[in-house]
Amino acid sequence: MHDYLIIGQGLAGTWLSYFLLQKNKKILLIDDAHPLAASRVSSGLMNPITGRKLVKSWRAETLFPFAKTHYRELEDLLQTRFCYDRTMVWLLSNVKELNTFWARSGEEGYDKYFKNIQNEAFHPAFKNEVGFGEISGAMFVNTPQLLSSYRQHLQKKKGLIEAKFDYNDLILNEKSVTWQGIEAKNIIFCEGHQSRFNPYFNWLPFVPAKGEFLIVEAKDLDLEKAQQIIKNKITLLPLGNDRYWVGSTYEWKELNEIPTSKARQDLLIQLDNTLQIPYKILDHQAGIRPSAKDRRPFLGLHPQYPNMGIFNGLGTKGVSLSPYFAHHFAAYLESEEVLQKEVDIRRYEMLI
Ligand SMILES: Cc1cc2nc3c(=O)[nH]c(=O)nc-3n(C[C@H](O)[C@H](O)[C@H](O)COP(=O)(O)OP(=O)(O)OC[C@H]3O[C@@H](n4cnc5c(N)ncnc54)[C@H](O)[C@@H]3O)c2cc1C
Repeated sequence: MHDYLIIGQGLAGTWLSYFLLQKNKKILLIDDAHPLAASRVSSGLMNPITGRKLVKSWRAETLFPFAKTHYRELEDLLQTRFCYDRTMVWLLSNVKELNTFWARSGEEGYDKYFKNIQNEAFHPAFKNEVGFGEISGAMFVNTPQLLSSYRQHLQKKKGLIEAKFDYNDLILNEKSVTWQGIEAKNIIFCEGHQSRFNPYFNWLPFVPAKGEFLIVEAKDLDLEKAQQIIKNKITLLPLGNDRYWVGSTYEWKELNEIPTSKARQDLLIQLDNTLQIPYKILDHQAGIRPSAKDRRPFLGLHPQYPNMGIFNGLGTKGVSLSPYFAHHFAAYLESEEVLQKEVDIRRYEMLI
């Protein structure tokens, strides 16, 4: 019998299975390899300072070092490179933005991230700049690469089945669950935004956000060599070979993975306001971020079925949140830690 059946191999399922395996648990992942799952289209960025107000990311001091250590550990295990230290370069288009940057850089706890602020143009390829500011401590994780390497690793150990999990096939026994003749002591759902349709957890307040992005080719930028990611109203992230990830949009109503001409136009306006060198659009895609109403992860066991759990709600920050909270959840599942209240799904138990 398996200890855990895990549904979904995005970042959540990957990290949860990783930490459970470290505890010598017998696990089996079921994943349908959806090519547009959030973890497969993500820009893979861990950015310690976010938003126009340049605020430190929630629990950055704890989550970022933890994530960095464990992404490196996973690289070693899989013998594959997918995680890279990066500097964020914020292009500042007016004096107010420049002043905000200066002010924040002097604040306690922020100084270590702000490494260089200049009131001059950053690079001749960009326009409308009064200056730029550099923020250190960011990381780019090539999430499709991570997911496919880890998948192969699990498949070799017979730890993953590529299949669509149908909730109607789940049999709940007194102290275990059975799916297609496979029995496990526990089942944990990590289906990303698809958890909205999970009959056991659809009461959780999911607020998924569709995001669209472009892949463009721009020669003569050379940001890859300098290990830099550009940020203003959009993010320009080097993918290698003169290709850049450019995104992204936010849409809460039309929740599908179909690229729209409206989003394309919005992204192109931003890109034209940013770049003054020619570029070529290579691709345009969309994905859905599995966000929670209060923007905090969903961790926990079902109030009525104690051997059924969920790890979700990673929203816009799955790359930095998933290692730490998967580790915490695995420890909770094995009765080694008490679940942190802020992420415990019992905060929404009244909705069931
Ligand atoms: C455009 C975009 C850009 C983003 N950029 C960033 C970023 O730069 N940094 C960052 O931190 N976060 C980013 N995110 C968010 C990040 O991608 C998510 O937080 C994270 O990937 C969520 O991981 P997950 O494992 O919870 O869900 P998912 O990645 O959606 O994984 C769920 C998995 O479950 C599978 N599945 C679902 N239902 C079933 C079923 N019934 N049977 C079998 N398999 C099933 C799916 O195929 C998938 O493989 C971005 C998201 C988008 C859409």
